[in-house]
Amino acid sequence: MNIAAWLDRNARTFPDRPALARGAAVHADFRLWAGRVRRLAGALLGPLGCRPGDRAAIVMRNQPEYLEAQFGIWHAGLCAVPVNARLHPNEFHYILEHSESRVAFVSPDLAESVVPLAEKIPTLERVVVAPGPEWTRLLEESEHGLVARAPTDPAWLFYTSGTTGRPKGAVLTHRNLLVATLSYFADIDFVTPEDSVLQAAPLSHGAGLYGLPIIAKAGCSVIPESGHFDGDEVARLLARWPNMSFFAAPTMVTRLIANPAFAGADHRYLKTIIYGGAPMYVEDLKRALDLLGPKLQQIYGQGEAPMTITGLSKAMHADRDHPRWEARLGSAGIARTDVEVRVVDAEDRDVPVGETGEVLARGDVVMAGYWKNEAATRETLRGGWLHTGDVGAFDEEGFLTLKDRSKDVIISGGTNIYPREVEEVLLRHPAVVEVSVVGKPDREWGERVVAFVVRRPEAALSEAELDALCLSSIARFKRPKEYVFLDSLPKNNYGKVLKTELRKRFER
Ligand code: AMP
Repeated sequence: MNIAAWLDRNARTFPDRPALARGAAVHADFRLWAGRVRRLAGALLGPLGCRPGDRAAIVMRNQPEYLEAQFGIWHAGLCAVPVNARLHPNEFHYILEHSESRVAFVSPDLAESVVPLAEKIPTLERVVVAPGPEWTRLLEESEHGLVARAPTDPAWLFYTSGTTGRPKGAVLTHRNLLVATLSYFADIDFVTPEDSVLQAAPLSHGAGLYGLPIIAKAGCSVIPESGHFDGDEVARLLARWPNMSFFAAPTMVTRLIANPAFAGADHRYLKTIIYGGAPMYVEDLKRALDLLGPKLQQIYGQGEAPMTITGLSKAMHADRDHPRWEARLGSAGIARTDVEVRVVDAEDRDVPVGETGEVLARGDVVMAGYWKNEAATRETLRGGWLHTGDVGAFDEEGFLTLKDRSKDVIISGGTNIYPREVEEVLLRHPAVVEVSVVGKPDREWGERVVAFVVRRPEAALSEAELDALCLSSIARFKRPKEYVFLDSLPKNNYGKVLKTELRKRFER
């Protein structure tokens, strides 16, 4: 099935329902959106010279035209290549060239860095600025019917955020996206045409894929005018578009609940906040639950298995009387309905419950492989299992607790120290806003524990207080030997803390 079929179907059954909104204003109903998509497909397969199977890139900020382009590309049987709008022009170049995209749709403010690439990349034939005169002209082409797709046909060539090295392109098929969508209904929420999804996190990220279940069920996709998370704006849009759900990185959730307008908003309009992509600390999570009630759903996934590996449901978050409630909040939940999950040793043998190893996943949501990178595909999918590179442990009830990426584990005096455990403790101090713990090379111990701490403004906070806090709850050897106070932590475009940047400070 070509998943763009949803839009044609909605245009028949729910033609007048709001489908795309820019802030409070309706940008298109389903009739209009589906009509634009059919004409854009006509343009891609006509004057733009594409054939089904070709790649077309989307280098756009969050704007309604993003979703119009995405569905136009799918409707025409092409594979979309989402490109994070905040990347460097050299990275645009790399992704457009590597994906062999024939066409790129680009936001007006990015035209300056992307349009010239058509001269430099032989496979890139056209760059279309959207909105813009050419975009408008293309939307006047004749309509094209939905191009049939096999389940194994690529739909989404997803370049990983790449906190290290060159990004790799995970090939996600129509089946992958369909299964990710169906398991949203199985594990997260039932969705109706009265629902909405706020697209404040970059649509180019997995975050954008969380909109698919809402589109499939004829709900409205709302793009905030600011293009990102702004607590005041989210509070306003909640009342305008009730039954709202959205994906937010943990840092965004924490920032939102600290925003007075959002904190004071009527949270009955909020359906679900899905958070994931990085650990959410238990103290932050409890604060969010106190404010919002049982509206939080955690997801652990990666670009290679979008939206899906494990999940901690809203009910599990709400189950405060459970004896292991806190441990569960610190976990990434249980295996999603559509995948098998294992934790293994270096030889891919299952480790006993409670022991730490690499997390593997298998199921119809796992990517077909990496684009033009057979060696990495073979390595990552060896034995038919996705090797996530994440380290975790199952408990007896099947809850997976993620430790840290293997490269972030600190080895001091031959013992493994998991930074997250230390971070969780430091965050309990009311004057600590953010913290990141990394290993610093040390001649005697191999590595020693260093904590980078962001203090609440004007709060008095001493190293001795933090040390006492650690001594009261974790083994002595895990305590930071050094504290560095910063105004903010370095983060990548998706809000993930860049431990690599912090470690670089030790090289100077
Ligand atoms: P990306 O492919 O950019 O979405 O990054 C995926 C990585 O983010 C995973 O491999 C994990 O290391 C991390 N991650 C995703 N979800 C979670 C979560 N719920 N808790 C902790 N880490 C997560």
